[in-house]
Amino acid sequence: MDYKIETNCVQAGYEPKNGEPRVLPIYQSTTYKYDSAQYLGDLFDLKVEGHMYTRLSNPTIECVEKKIAALEGGVGALCLSSGQAANLFALLNIAQSGDNFVSASEIYGGTVNLFAVTMKKMGIEVRFASPKDSDEEIEKLFDERTRAVFGETVSNPALDVLDIERFARLAHSHGVPLIIDNTFATPINCRPFEFGADIVTHSTTKYMDGHATCVGGAIVDSGNFDWAGGKYPELSEPDESYHGVTYTKEFGKAAYIVKARAQLMRDLGSQMSPIAAFILNLGLETLHLRVERHCENAMKVAKFLEDCDDISWVNYPGLASSPQYELAKKYMPHGICGVISFGIKGGKEAAVKFMESLKLAQMVVHVADARTSVLHPASTTHRQLSDEQLISCGVPADMIRMSVGIENCDDIIGDIQQALFNAK
Ligand SMILES: *Cc1c(COP(=O)(O)O)cnc(C)c1O
Repeated sequence: MDYKIETNCVQAGYEPKNGEPRVLPIYQSTTYKYDSAQYLGDLFDLKVEGHMYTRLSNPTIECVEKKIAALEGGVGALCLSSGQAANLFALLNIAQSGDNFVSASEIYGGTVNLFAVTMKKMGIEVRFASPKDSDEEIEKLFDERTRAVFGETVSNPALDVLDIERFARLAHSHGVPLIIDNTFATPINCRPFEFGADIVTHSTTKYMDGHATCVGGAIVDSGNFDWAGGKYPELSEPDESYHGVTYTKEFGKAAYIVKARAQLMRDLGSQMSPIAAFILNLGLETLHLRVERHCENAMKVAKFLEDCDDISWVNYPGLASSPQYELAKKYMPHGICGVISFGIKGGKEAAVKFMESLKLAQMVVHVADARTSVLHPASTTHRQLSDEQLISCGVPADMIRMSVGIENCDDIIGDIQQALFNAK
């Protein structure tokens, strides 16, 4: 039965049989028991499906993987210990030393470091493309060792909306997949596979968990990309570290996720824990309700700020004044995310005073949980930079990033009003 996404948030992934627990149990076990050595041998040979060891798979985590795959409309998913691990594995699964990939330049700062510093040390080169560049300019970044294209649906924290269809076309015309980090939009607002993306990644730490309780990540495969074309011998030729299994031949559409699990998770770890998967599942059960309220509140706050004399600028792709508005309408017609950014008149000093005057909204480094929170990048995450450097990296000194929560919006706006008054 094909259910709608709201139903899948609540129910997908776990189907108890007669007399079994109604609620997804936490299988807090690293290990599993077998009746015969033959069965265990077959498990090791990937001939039968089942659990061997919780680094590779676990019944609680498996149910959450099935739910996330259903939400994105994919054929399979792999949960990981963090969003960072998810993006690393998504690329490492199809690229090796000497290879390169193209990435949109407006992406999460942690991902920039992962790509430009740590993956570079592994011999995998990132080539950044500004979405403002022409197709011809971006085409120049590809060569015969290019293995993927990467971007974020809505970027953190710049809130740029990626033209997914355009990036999918560029990727596919060079025979490589498009990987989309869908953390901010969530599958409630955008399902990148419907626009041609091949792989989706998530920091489940954000809206999916939604309560700021567990760090986690996920990779989802659409099953649509053909890995057998010759560029991905690790998938289409025998894996000697797995007694010659050929993932594309033996697992068909599931090849990419099976390889990420059987090879990368086996060798590198980074698995999600069963209890984290249980907590993530609780978050997912209300994802559709929370995301809707986050977006509704963020839109109201953005409109309020736009009309407010003390505010110099507001960046939210849902505002008709935003240069991102048309792209946002196409890719996320029902809502974008709860994060907005704005500048306050009076610069850095006024921004700090304003933030310290907020009562309901609290200063945190995190975004995308139920509670409204704020961050002033210029005095925290970017505090080593001069005012000129701040402007050149897109973080003006007066910029405040607000993650609008799911409280009553009148209270959120009231808090902003009193803080603006007190910051004067
Ligand atoms: C937070 C974040 C990440 C990193 O995820 P962690 O769970 O913190 O490791 C990756 N991408 C985006 C878009 C993020 O917001």
